[in-house]
Amino acid sequence: MFEKILIANRGEIALRVIRACAEMGIKSVAVHSTADADAMHVRLADESVCIGPPSSTHSYLSFPAIISACEITGADAIHPGYGFLSENAAFVQIVEDHGLSFIGPTAEHIRIMGDKITAKETMKALGVPVVPGSEGGVPDYETAVTVAEEIGYPVIIKATAGGGGRGMKLAKTPKDLETAFRTARSESKAAFGNDEVYIEKYLGKPRHIEIQVFGDGKGKAVHLGERDCSLQRRHQKVLEEAPGPVIDAETRARIGKVCADAVARINYVGAGTIEFLYENDEFYFIEMNTRLQVEHPVTEGIFGVDLVREQIRVAQGLPLSFEQDDLVVNGHAIEVRINAEKLPNFVPSPGKIGMYHAPGGLGVRMDSALYGGYSIPPYYDSLIGKLIVHGRDRDEALSRLSRALSEIVIEGIDTTLPLFDALLREPDIRSGNYDIHWLEKWLAAHGG
Ligand code: ADP
Repeated sequence: MFEKILIANRGEIALRVIRACAEMGIKSVAVHSTADADAMHVRLADESVCIGPPSSTHSYLSFPAIISACEITGADAIHPGYGFLSENAAFVQIVEDHGLSFIGPTAEHIRIMGDKITAKETMKALGVPVVPGSEGGVPDYETAVTVAEEIGYPVIIKATAGGGGRGMKLAKTPKDLETAFRTARSESKAAFGNDEVYIEKYLGKPRHIEIQVFGDGKGKAVHLGERDCSLQRRHQKVLEEAPGPVIDAETRARIGKVCADAVARINYVGAGTIEFLYENDEFYFIEMNTRLQVEHPVTEGIFGVDLVREQIRVAQGLPLSFEQDDLVVNGHAIEVRINAEKLPNFVPSPGKIGMYHAPGGLGVRMDSALYGGYSIPPYYDSLIGKLIVHGRDRDEALSRLSRALSEIVIEGIDTTLPLFDALLREPDIRSGNYDIHWLEKWLAAHGG
């Protein structure tokens, strides 16, 4: 059994993992860059090791620094959180070569799902519905023309190695195709060192619905329903909720079973998320994330489970602590992402926090590494907190969200908090009537 876990991450997610370790009686080790010496994850962990300078390439992403920190502290496992090394197959291999455990899926599964074409082919073969598109990569413009004619316009050109919405270009009509194809390729080459692209049918008004799955690595897997993450800006999620406002119990059970069966068949171990676009009652697979997601707390809220504890359990070969029939949806949960950014243009706003007050009360969870007097370094992601509310139904969750937002105080920097007050006044948000383009349009109409 694990006695000590090293958390190869920072911020709220490092705290999240430290908390699960503490409740399981497992010691935790924080790692930090010199810029994070005063960070909350360093204070809350049982031990900490400085692993390098502010630049994440030389600290949070450095294999030798992290492996050495494990050796120095005698940690027997690494939890990667999300981002950083969480989906790096080469890192998983190195961790295992050093006789340590990686709390997450195998290097092979990370590799398969990290390449979008292979991921799509694998999922299709496992019976998961995918977006109509090219069979594999599209080598040249001439082939792109033929493929796009077959699928029908509009089409979207996507980078095989893509992530974070980069290397994705829309071609509404045949005359847009050449520019879209060439820019997607060059953007992908610049961002990922790989210019392979593929083509998909562009869906006009989909919702982003993702299914949480969990495997024991021995051929058993369950699903924990869906999250609706359609409110996005530049393909980045801003607010997430579970259950999805437009998904009923029968649909949930059906797509959930397809996903759980698919990952069971490949002996998937740990947490995973299968992302879909959902339009006209149809699901279209876009990608699988082989890690814990930022928005996992909404799933924890409605099912009353601890997903990090579960990750730690299955990484030690223990069975899942719940069966599919134990997982019953209870109420509704909503998460908002609080970023250190100045509205309306979302410009990063690092700096020193003055007063900080977290909201509380029934059904309110604040996952954040902030404290009064803390200086947010400028080197990392701008996510500084997640406010998660749970209610008996969606209306109660919305009222609770407004109430909790009215309690938060974060002085000294600009945050995205005012955005949520404004969104909660919108009839479409109150009724759950939004698709993946809703927020961009709203922001454009409100000076964003
Ligand atoms: P990334 O890994 O870069 O985030 P994804 O494949 O997950 O790329 O897509 C990110 C977002 O791009 C989706 O949530 C959706 O908003 C949009 N998108 C992707 N594929 C399509 C498609 N076929 N039609 C319409 N929008 C799409």
